[in-house]
Amino acid sequence: MYDIVIIGGGPGGLTAGIYAGRARLKTIVVDKGLYGGQMQNTLEVENYPGWKTITGPQLAEQMYEHMLEFGTEWKQAEVIGVDFTGRVKTLELSDGSTLQARVVIIATGAQPRTLNVPGEKEFAGRGVSYCATCDGAFFRNREVVVVGGGDSAVEEGVFLTRFASQVTIVHRRDQFRAQPILQERAFANPKIKVVWDTVVEAIAGDSRVSKVVVRNVRTGLVSELKADGVFIYVGYLPNTEFLRDTGLLNAAGYIETDAKMSTKIPGVFAAGDVRDTALRQIVTAAGDGALAAMSAYHYLESW
Ligand code: NAP
Repeated sequence: MYDIVIIGGGPGGLTAGIYAGRARLKTIVVDKGLYGGQMQNTLEVENYPGWKTITGPQLAEQMYEHMLEFGTEWKQAEVIGVDFTGRVKTLELSDGSTLQARVVIIATGAQPRTLNVPGEKEFAGRGVSYCATCDGAFFRNREVVVVGGGDSAVEEGVFLTRFASQVTIVHRRDQFRAQPILQERAFANPKIKVVWDTVVEAIAGDSRVSKVVVRNVRTGLVSELKADGVFIYVGYLPNTEFLRDTGLLNAAGYIETDAKMSTKIPGVFAAGDVRDTALRQIVTAAGDGALAAMSAYHYLESW
């Protein structure tokens, strides 16, 4: 039996793993994919203290190696069921095995939200993408549309100008939600055009995407934008499907915690983007992970 099982190996989970390992607790991190979570899809990170600039995958590797140094184990598997009813928690994994632990820290993060418009599913991987870092290079000298107005849409829109001949950001309002520094870069970039007050109604093409059908929400006017690619950045959804019967989730599917990262179930903590929180950054996920691990340590002292 483990002292702590951490579900999710993004910055929250990996940092919790560093702190738990350093506290000499028998700890394992379980993740269905590669370590690093969303850091693996981030080309450049320039707001993680200590690194003026570092690629997401490099930062992920640093955190992962750091965690292994302190003796925390790593396992690649998906958690498909949980039993948090007893003092000992049990997790059911996709490989048919189970894990038992005195503490569980949930750090499963979030995944891109879809637009749910005709053509989105059909053209996924054939022009529709949720990851400019992964797919941007396929659009050299092409025209792309970016959907959204938050940090991701604006930052990735600027990134796409490295490849694309034109990047059109389609946003449903008349101002961005993105941080001013990101907006300044977008407005200063001659390859970027912004279409305000507009929503995407459909994505169309033949074998690949060739256009996006849009509607102006003020005038109702429907028109088409030429697009070889469509990058969708309309927010994220928490990865909490496997927790739906636990009573831990709020209406939006995020986990509610107190300031010590405790959930309403004793021995179950949460960290990072999966939490109901005001800021979702690598540094805040890491901070949550540290706090969750130390709260778990104190909980285990009187177990
Ligand atoms: P976000 O902040 O939730 O923004 C989502 C954007 O998509 C908003 O502009 C929203 O419009 C728009 N949107 C939502 N649903 C839509 C729909 N159905 N149709 C059209 N547009 C829709 O998501 P995010 O930009 O991915 O950022 C997620 C988190 O990561 C944030 O906390 C962000 O600060 C952080 N982040 C930080 C950095 C950085 O610091 N460099 C980079 C990337 C992400 P409205 O504005 O009208 O609501």
